[in-house]
Amino acid sequence: MPDQPARPARPRVVIIGGGFAGIAAARALRRAKVDITLIDRTNHFIFQPLLYQVATAALAPSDITAPIRWILRSQRNAEVLLAEARDIDTARRVVRVDDDLRELPYDYLIVAPGARHHYFGRDDWEPYAPGLKAIEDASEIRRRFLLAYEKAEKTEDTIERDELLTFVIVGGGPTGVELSGAIPFIAKKALHSEFRRVDTRRTRVVMVEAGPRILPSFPEDLAQHAARDLADLGVEVRVNSMVTGLGSDGISIGTEKIRARTVFWAAGNKASPLGKLLGAPLDNAGRVKVNDDLSVPGHPEIFAIGDLATLSQDGRQVPGVCPAANQEGAFAAKSIIRDTRRQPRKKFHYFNKGDLATIGRSRAIADFGRVKFTGRLAWFLWLFVHIMYLVGFRNRLVVFIEWAYSYFTYQAGVRLITDVERYKPPASVSI
Ligand SMILES: Cc1cc2nc3c(=O)[nH]c(=O)nc-3n(C[C@H](O)[C@H](O)[C@H](O)COP(=O)(O)OP(=O)(O)OC[C@H]3O[C@@H](n4cnc5c(N)ncnc54)[C@H](O)[C@@H]3O)c2cc1C
Repeated sequence: MPDQPARPARPRVVIIGGGFAGIAAARALRRAKVDITLIDRTNHFIFQPLLYQVATAALAPSDITAPIRWILRSQRNAEVLLAEARDIDTARRVVRVDDDLRELPYDYLIVAPGARHHYFGRDDWEPYAPGLKAIEDASEIRRRFLLAYEKAEKTEDTIERDELLTFVIVGGGPTGVELSGAIPFIAKKALHSEFRRVDTRRTRVVMVEAGPRILPSFPEDLAQHAARDLADLGVEVRVNSMVTGLGSDGISIGTEKIRARTVFWAAGNKASPLGKLLGAPLDNAGRVKVNDDLSVPGHPEIFAIGDLATLSQDGRQVPGVCPAANQEGAFAAKSIIRDTRRQPRKKFHYFNKGDLATIGRSRAIADFGRVKFTGRLAWFLWLFVHIMYLVGFRNRLVVFIEWAYSYFTYQAGVRLITDVERYKPPASVSI
């Protein structure tokens, strides 16, 4: 048996990831007699449901983020390390971090590093169609979105102008719908009066979905309602349309080409590669197939949670959403507490409080099982829920004021293009 690093008297819990799941786990352990080390490769928690608002210049990055260190500032049993987990040695019970592979020993390990975009084997498409997961992604999308109008204003070539005013969004899930619905509003209301040579109202938004309908996680009637809302906003919704080519001048769907200088990717998720290090079975999105107490098969001391994990319940998969990540984080923490009290563990049960998606100003869909509704009421509920769940009073207040201002003035507040000089677009590749 290899040498084990010296262990402290209290169980040491290492949490990888300060997202929804990792933070929920740390908070639920606040009164436990354990020592927690939470590591994240960024210093901030991101409220991902509002990332598309940063990408479309409605909110600033700081409005939807909070320093992890600040969130856990009063929790005396928790320390925060800005570090990237590179390796997990499950035999020696250590996590290796950063370039120097410094070792962090653990008695319990909670792995919650989330997911990245999935290009389904075409990672070479990423430079031409960035996805939306991190603040850097949102800033990049915002840059490309706003730069397209700046370039359109300068060009004399009408074909190039049309291509610059065309935006393709790949993927018809909630993120694709939110991005597609936000662009026409900004183009028609916020930008229109500011450009002299280009008519921003001529913006074309095409949303491309490989499956037979958009919003597959919502009931069919609500998804149809959302598709009609998008059509009202002028978005072209293309279902049963698999992207077969992607380059700097647009996309192809079989033999058809859609010429566009700006393409965004909202089509799929791939779990963090850390899942592979746990020696457990994975599904085809790289998620760890966890036991019903969220532990990793063969390792009762390791929990995989949030977007990294997959678990079926009542014949349905627990969805990759914030409430599931929150509930899983709290549940993994309680299992550790039960272990310290020598109580048997319980089975995790996901409680679905309902699903909401917004399509644009005053348009949303809400699904609470038997109760479903759409339109302005659903939209106000969406606003309320998102403000309530933002982390930190400052963020709630600022977002409330930004939204109220934008509602009455039709302005998009954060139209910053940073690093224009240093920005190098990816090499031209024709579709
Ligand atoms: C654009 C977008 C919109 C969404 N909209 C909604 C919505 O409206 N409603 C909803 O319920 N859900 C929504 N989701 C899904 C929801 O955000 C996720 O299900 C949830 O964030 C998963 O939580 P998590 O803790 O597993 O991962 P995350 O919240 O992604 O957190 C993972 C953390 O791990 C860190 N990390 C990753 N790798 C490492 C490493 N090697 N070392 C150290 N740290 C690491 C990351 O920096 C990050 O902080 C959306 C997601 C996105 C991307």
